[in-house]
Amino acid sequence: MTIGTLSQEVEDFWVKVSTEIKRMNMEPEKFNPTALENYYDEKSVWWKKDFINQLIDEARRNKKTRNLCNFLLYEYVNLVLYDLDEYFIEEKQTFLRALTKGINQTSWSLRKQTVQELISSHVSMSTHFEQYYKQRSKKLEEELGHSCLNKLYAEMNQADIERYTNVCVNILHLTKDLYWYLQKKTIKLESHILEAEWQDLLFIQKNDPFHQCFKDINTKTIFTALGHLNYQNIFIHESNIVSRPNSLAIDLPNEIYIFIQKGRGSEYLQSLLHEIGHGIYYSSLKKEYHIEQKQLGFRGITEAFAYSTQLLLLDKNFLASLNVIEDKHIEALIDYYKWDFLRQLRLVCVQFLLAVKHMEKNTYESLMNFTKKVIEETFFVHFPKELYWLYIGDLKTSLEYVAGWVWGIQLRHYMKGCKLEQQKQELFTLRKDSDLPLVLNREEFNFLKNDAYQIGVRELFTY
Ligand SMILES: [Zn+2]
Repeated sequence: MTIGTLSQEVEDFWVKVSTEIKRMNMEPEKFNPTALENYYDEKSVWWKKDFINQLIDEARRNKKTRNLCNFLLYEYVNLVLYDLDEYFIEEKQTFLRALTKGINQTSWSLRKQTVQELISSHVSMSTHFEQYYKQRSKKLEEELGHSCLNKLYAEMNQADIERYTNVCVNILHLTKDLYWYLQKKTIKLESHILEAEWQDLLFIQKNDPFHQCFKDINTKTIFTALGHLNYQNIFIHESNIVSRPNSLAIDLPNEIYIFIQKGRGSEYLQSLLHEIGHGIYYSSLKKEYHIEQKQLGFRGITEAFAYSTQLLLLDKNFLASLNVIEDKHIEALIDYYKWDFLRQLRLVCVQFLLAVKHMEKNTYESLMNFTKKVIEETFFVHFPKELYWLYIGDLKTSLEYVAGWVWGIQLRHYMKGCKLEQQKQELFTLRKDSDLPLVLNREEFNFLKNDAYQIGVRELFTY
């Protein structure tokens, strides 16, 4: 195996696959799932246990191959677990659809009743979840020889779990009082709930109190407000078939697509800014970089740019320049965003802590109790412990989102008052000893080493 040619092969493979994904989002009538399957079949030599393990060995010896290994390992695991995952994901989706329908009722007691009924009609979900994870581990053990994928990901991403845990615990502590204060305010604004339940948070998130006040959003105005005038490489495609907002980088830095469901309101605006942040990051990369540098690396870096852009919504002047809402609503909207962003940040921290707990192979009873306790203490709501499985995910995603949020907060602090165009070039550079794509080029961004992130947290989330 020569790493040099493998890198080029992966790039060709990615262009084909992502072009197909673009078609799926833009011209669904022309999309043919067999074409996508064929691209994977053509590369059958990659999806073999020996090949992946050889790559893992190589990545342990030579840091340069880590991104390549991470990418192929992730794809390999998805293929190996496809049938198993699909069954569980389908079941989870059915449950979530029923839940979304139930919690959309304006009446607090009806929402509570719906959730209770839903839990009693799905009592088998937690048993299924336990079986699913056991089968997953067994299958990985058989196929790959590693039963704990989380441990492998942590190693491949060189993640210091203890340090990440401390950062999460610390952020939860730092933001606790403000979150509680804003939540009381937000919930009162929305309805008259005295005692909040977990589903009430989901309700408010889906039915933001400002929806009616929003004007249509003009994407050109957003780019102008961002000071990012060179946006011809970023294509925004609004459509009703897109299930969740996402960005797709096909050929970097020239071809970046943002897919988002047509909409308006506060959730739409923050999603749009988040995805534009990804677009800004991708469009800042240089064409001559290898695909390992541009795309296959640790997702936390692109997420940092996305969160940093989204966090601009806490800036009064920026929000006013978008011309999406009357000035008289701006302050209340910022408070709402502060609450919502803190909710997202705190959730990311909680999910990381849960992923770690899960990795430690605790009994399900103790996992259930731990989840209930953490969710209740973090969000000041009652949480049904039967639903603990809803928030347990893989460690890789949690690591990337925790890092994305922390760096995003630091970027916002650092770029305060600066034009994005002027700043972005000096923000990242290539790390000499590895092919990690682009590391943030300043010591204060290394939250694994110092506590500078706390300044950003305090600055953004004060009241
Ligand atoms: Zn993102």
